[in-house]
Amino acid sequence: MRTPDNKTDLKNLSRPQLVRYVEELGQPSFRGEQILAWLYRPGITDFSQMTDLAKEFRSILSRQARISRFENPVVEESRDGSVKFCFSLEDGHTIESVLIPEEERNTLCVSSQAGCAMGCHFCVTGKMGLKRNLKPAEIVNQVCGARDWMFSRGRGRLTNLVFMGMGEPLANLDNLLTALSILNEQRGLDFSNRRMTVSTCGLVPQMIEFGRKTEVNLAVSLHAVDNATRTMLMPVNRTYPLEDLLEACRHYQMKKRQRIMFEYTLLEGINDADDSAVRLAEMLRGIPCKINLLAMNSTGDDRFRSPAMERILKFQDILRRRGYTVFIRQSRGEDISAACGQLAGRVEQALPG
Ligand code: SF4
Repeated sequence: MRTPDNKTDLKNLSRPQLVRYVEELGQPSFRGEQILAWLYRPGITDFSQMTDLAKEFRSILSRQARISRFENPVVEESRDGSVKFCFSLEDGHTIESVLIPEEERNTLCVSSQAGCAMGCHFCVTGKMGLKRNLKPAEIVNQVCGARDWMFSRGRGRLTNLVFMGMGEPLANLDNLLTALSILNEQRGLDFSNRRMTVSTCGLVPQMIEFGRKTEVNLAVSLHAVDNATRTMLMPVNRTYPLEDLLEACRHYQMKKRQRIMFEYTLLEGINDADDSAVRLAEMLRGIPCKINLLAMNSTGDDRFRSPAMERILKFQDILRRRGYTVFIRQSRGEDISAACGQLAGRVEQALPG
């Protein structure tokens, strides 16, 4: 994968690809491992810093390859502690990541595309349309950028990654899988698979492939218990209706203790009735899963409002009584528009042209 300066961005390469790359340059394979051990360290921007590589090989690398990074993100900190990073890509698009600090962990919500083609009606990114897929390096560099920002401010280290930022990750499956393998790499960023979760709006064939190719956790955005409501919220439901989606979930390839996380955003008067909770419990019967009930961030669209906490608790109670593990996720960073895609949408609107 070459960049505008016609150099190979080594952060686009998985470990096997990196090994192949150095072999093509006439080097032994262990040189690839050596480069990998440097590539994702904070502050490494230049091959001259890789002091265990021969000088001659370093100068070959400088001519043929590069180490990309995101510089100077626009950062907004919320009163509730969450932090939004807005990164500019080389072609002028912007993407965002959101850091969500909690007591025991620091989770980064990562983007997989600039914009999104899925058009979910409650989502600001959906209104932007798809600009393009992110390359593996652009996915991984969000993690490096947030990590470096945290490090420089003594804010601890990242513990978890969720792919719930801009874009539908499974619509960019090949690049996503490469990025996940880099993030998982012990000599790379060393996130174990169980600390990473990829969320899909329900692209069934890609979901099945994802389950076959990785042990990273899967989250499925459900948001409705009948096809009419789900199609109204998420146009993807026309292509992959609930029956197909749940069938794929029922047969999803997982390790023994793994669970699918179902995401259900509660929308007042739309999907938050007691009947919906009962129906949801019936639908998910037999699928190893957990349920996240999400209170909606305001998107400026009056049709979609979060119900009162009382209603959310009742919905949770109905599911719990039927044996499900159910979490309530409060929306974070409302004051910095931290729902998916909102900051990038605002920045791009403000840019000329
Ligand atoms: Fe895309 Fe996710 Fe927004 Fe749907 S919710 S439009 S899949 S970014």
